[in-house]
Amino acid sequence: MDAVKDHRKKRHIPAAAFTKAILILFLCRLPSLNALDQYRSRRSLRRLLKHPMPSGDQIANVSEVLNLADLRGILGHIYGRAGRNKVLTAVRGHRLAVVDGHEINCSYKRCCDECQQRRIMVNGEERIQYYHRAVIFQLVGENFRLLLDLEMLQPHDDEGTAALRLIQRVLDCYPRSFDILLGDGLYPQARLFKLLRRHHKHAIVVLKDDRRDLLKDARGLFRDCRQITYREGRTVYQCRDVEDLQSWDSYPEKVRVVQSIETTIVREYDGHKKRQRKVTSEWIWVTTLSSNEVSTKNIVHFGHERWRIENEGFNELCNQWHADHYFHHDPTSIIAFWLILFMAHAIFHCLMRNLKPAIRAGHTLLYWAQQILGDLVSDRWAFSTA
Ligand SMILES: [Zn+2]
Repeated sequence: MDAVKDHRKKRHIPAAAFTKAILILFLCRLPSLNALDQYRSRRSLRRLLKHPMPSGDQIANVSEVLNLADLRGILGHIYGRAGRNKVLTAVRGHRLAVVDGHEINCSYKRCCDECQQRRIMVNGEERIQYYHRAVIFQLVGENFRLLLDLEMLQPHDDEGTAALRLIQRVLDCYPRSFDILLGDGLYPQARLFKLLRRHHKHAIVVLKDDRRDLLKDARGLFRDCRQITYREGRTVYQCRDVEDLQSWDSYPEKVRVVQSIETTIVREYDGHKKRQRKVTSEWIWVTTLSSNEVSTKNIVHFGHERWRIENEGFNELCNQWHADHYFHHDPTSIIAFWLILFMAHAIFHCLMRNLKPAIRAGHTLLYWAQQILGDLVSDRWAFSTA
């Protein structure tokens, strides 16, 4: 689709103008297309789009037919620029990526052809809830993260199947984008490990199902192996590391299992008294990496990097970017809006990097988002999204 006819003014608006309009929606952190409609008359929008601003209804309708491959291509361009400009750098010598599932929204009333369904008891009555879930792929650098792609779960998909499609697409399009893939407890799946090893990539994923023979064997071997203890900040790590485990029936190669028992001293206020409390947690990861390739300490460090997709990805998108609802409930629209949201997220954080530390200090990210909206309202926008 190259252009859409604006019937009122009998002229065509190029599809790129709609992509830019959605980008502006996100950069200004507006909660809906109706909110964007309020700023249609701004000259800065016309300058940016090089066309009259389409209405919210037009944007919603056109989002159903936006070319998703083109949108993914723009994200690929951003990825290329981030790499060339040394924005996206390796973490302790390795290029990391995180994959994780996220439920976008749910409803008892509104659904589409590709909604997933579940039965839920509400006040003793069984009701059908409709929802959309996506698997998201994020590249994690030392001081920057890039949301690169997502795959929606089809009505009868499980998360692992959608993740395989997503990872295969990333491997086809960006084969050098990562060395190590991080995942949560849903991802110790033989089909995923086999795909990664075929492309000479590695995995570090959380292992937490006690029914697994692999975990039982590893726990048995932990008792006899040497403990590695170190401190980082307020946390003491006690790690055990066993290699060459073969008790994973469906995966033919040997794997390594790393356990980390972490004790952190937490300071609390009890009334007017300050007191300290120890909090202990246990983490276990399974990985295809050998100890010659990555040390125990770095496996633990990389394993915890997975939380960045939660903290810096989903939480930020839902709490600050209004990504916890559908801007338009249509399967293609949902993907299109999320891909453009990834672009807005990357552009915004690149802008933040370019601010001098002295100017950035003392202000929240939301403050700078409000500055962008303020500049739009007062027609002061100077930068171009072209
Ligand atoms: Zn739906």
